[in-house]
Amino acid sequence: MILRVENLSKHYIIKSGAFSKRQVIKAVRDVSFQVMENQSLGLIGESGSGKSTIANLVLRLIPPSGGKIELFEEDVTSLKEEEMRRYRKDIQIIFQYTNDILDPQMTVDELIKEPLKIHNIVKDRELDQEVERLLEQVGLSPSERWKLPGQLSGGQNQRIIIARAIATRARLIVCDEPVSALDVSVQGQILNLLIRLKEELNLSYLFISHDLKVIRHMCESIAVMKNGEIVELGDTFEVLNNPQHEYTKKLIEAIL
Ligand code: ADP
Ligand code: MG
Repeated sequence: MILRVENLSKHYIIKSGAFSKRQVIKAVRDVSFQVMENQSLGLIGESGSGKSTIANLVLRLIPPSGGKIELFEEDVTSLKEEEMRRYRKDIQIIFQYTNDILDPQMTVDELIKEPLKIHNIVKDRELDQEVERLLEQVGLSPSERWKLPGQLSGGQNQRIIIARAIATRARLIVCDEPVSALDVSVQGQILNLLIRLKEELNLSYLFISHDLKVIRHMCESIAVMKNGEIVELGDTFEVLNNPQHEYTKKLIEAIL
């Protein structure tokens, strides 16, 4: 088991003005799911349904309000920051690509070396060879290595982000809308790269998207979210062929 989440909740308490009443936002309510080795679980739901909050909880970037998170068979729900550190290289995240996500001053070479150095993945004298290998693995040409992010396309930059994620030998990659900002033609190429890497590297994905077509292409199972809750969860084929929840039916109708 790679990831198990049980009855996970996240509430935010906000106060908009000095005299206004406290308001509780239930961003995630009592969700449970599992991600198995070399499997992808898709999280789908409209904007604001709690998908990114789940990603942040799983990565332990924010503390949960309730429930349990197990990573690689260990309960990490209340691990402290420094105790979490040993998992940092095992779980990586790939966000929606934006121009500010990669340091514009760093070359591709430096960007890929960064995680290799931080996590001590290879010996110093093997760094160059490792960068070459990773570039090839994500489908970038050797000449791209000395360029800056600004000299590359969105798709090429997303490949750099993927190279950084797999550089640490991650076992679980949380993909939060990884292709939503890319042109449709490029989206397919990046998705196929992620599928190939999953098989080559035995990866598991928690794959977040608002696009059912993307989830259908990528994931063996699917969790449908609405207002912070999982309203339907199951094998992708079964859910799409026999949806139980009205909201799932609406999502399916929209892509027919
Ligand atoms: P999604 O990724 O599905 O679009 P999010 O997980 O980003 O949804 O947000 C879920 C809900 O939680 C939204 O109503 C959002 O406004 C709220 N939310 C997210 N982060 C915070 C925060 N730091 N403080 C208050 N509310 C938040
Ligand atoms: Mg989001």
